[in-house]
Formats: sequence, structure tokens, C-alpha cells
Amino acid sequence: MSHHNQITQPSLPFAENALEPVISAKTIGFHYGKHHKGYVDKVNKLISGTEFEGLSLEEIIKKTVGKSEHTGIFNNAAQVWNHTFFWNSLSSNGGGEPSDVLMKKIEESFGSFDVFLKEITEAAKTQFGSGWAWLVMDGNKLKVMKTPNAETPLTMGVKPLLTIDVWEHAYYLDYQNKRPDYVTTVLEQLVNWDFAASNLK
Ligand code: MN
Repeated sequence: MSHHNQITQPSLPFAENALEPVISAKTIGFHYGKHHKGYVDKVNKLISGTEFEGLSLEEIIKKTVGKSEHTGIFNNAAQVWNHTFFWNSLSSNGGGEPSDVLMKKIEESFGSFDVFLKEITEAAKTQFGSGWAWLVMDGNKLKVMKTPNAETPLTMGVKPLLTIDVWEHAYYLDYQNKRPDYVTTVLEQLVNWDFAASNLK
């Protein structure tokens, strides 16, 4: 039974099989239904009866980041947020190039769209172990970041626009150890540029 003070898992913004063949329904089923849900269940268990119960997910993340006594709450809360942001960063109609405003911003910040693609691909490929690759707005400029484990730019004074999950559970069933193939194909076919552009505001 759900409690009104609990953190909830938003619905997937697409059907489980909508991203095939780039990401299989099986991967999405496990990733959303087991991994993402697991973080939601765990954070609710951990905050129950604490000062964090009833706060928004963002507040919990910001109040626990960097605090060694709250590592478990931070990790699970940030993973809930990162995954919801990741689902929104994907679309069956995605890939290609962003529209005018975001494209102009990317060209101003990176020199060209191709340079940006190279940078985010490199960040996603070289994140050692589990983590995330991001496009963020830092002040008035866009930049690429990578974060390990559950770390999120949300706590780093920058505005996330887009992310790619590079934990092995995101691609192993479909691509095994070939993370670069997963990253390249997601960028070419699934990246939701409309979502990224909506985060500019
Ligand atoms: Mn994941």
C-alpha cells in the first residue's frame, strides 16, 4: 500500500518495447521494473521515520549529498532522480539533431554539433565503472560531464539537460561489453532533443 509521504516512481514515458531494436523491451523491463523500482523502494524504506520523510526527492538529494552518515539515502534518492531524467532523455522519435535554439547553443559552446557528439561519446565511454554522461548548462554555456555511481549534476550548481546511463545494467543484455556501440546508437537514434531543449528554460 502506498503512503502519501512516499517517493513515487513516475510511469515510463514510452512503452517497454518502444525503443527496440536499440534498447530491448527486456532491458527496459529489468531497468525500469527492477533497478529503478528498487531504488524507489529502498529510499522509501531508508527515509521512513527520519527527518527526510515527506520532503521532495530533490530536497532529499540536496540535503544528503556529501554527508557520509546519509550515503545510503543519497545514493538511492539520486538514482531515482537520475533514472527518471534518463527515461525522459530517450524517445522512439529521438536522435538526429536538436532544433534551432538548442543547436545554436551547442555550436556556441562546443564549436560544432560534431565536436559535442565526440565529447559526450568520449565521456560516456571513459566513465570508469558505473555512472552517467550528461549535457548540462553551466551559467550561460553548455558542457559535457560524467559522474560516477549515483552522483548527479543536480547538486553541482549546473542545470542538467540530458543524460545517458552507462551502468552495465543499461546495456549489457543488448550490447554485452560493447558500451561504445550502445552510446553511439542511443545518440544517433534515441536522444530526446525536445526534452533537452525544454530544460534550457
Ligand atoms: Mn540504470
